[in-house]
Amino acid sequence: MMHPRRSNPRAEYRLLQSQRAMESVSLAQRFPRLDGLTVNLAYFDAEGLSKHSEMKYKVNVQHAKSVFCFVCPSGECVGGDFDLSEELAKAVGERRKLAAGEMRCAGWHKTPKVERAPCQILLRYKLTLDYV
Ligand SMILES: [Zn+2]
Repeated sequence: MMHPRRSNPRAEYRLLQSQRAMESVSLAQRFPRLDGLTVNLAYFDAEGLSKHSEMKYKVNVQHAKSVFCFVCPSGECVGGDFDLSEELAKAVGERRKLAAGEMRCAGWHKTPKVERAPCQILLRYKLTLDYV
């Protein structure tokens, strides 16, 4: 007996994204000159005023995937991710020691009133890079 699959846009999107990351090469393979990478991430609400969460960690460039993507901290957000792959590639290309910036979540969530309310969570990031 086959049960019709209930659509869960958030779960489906997460699955797709993790497959995309799994299939990508490691950071060390993509950027042979990159020796070390430290990431500083701070998430803010849509207004950019109150801080959601913050984290800082050292990336293992041998194992981390070159699809360099962080999941939106909002539990209901669909289609939202912060993809820093391009920023990282640019920074490595220019051999920069530091790359910092802001990015807004382009995802959405369902509210009682709106079918697709934009998420807009703000990420302030800082990448510290070391080279061989
Ligand atoms: Zn989001």
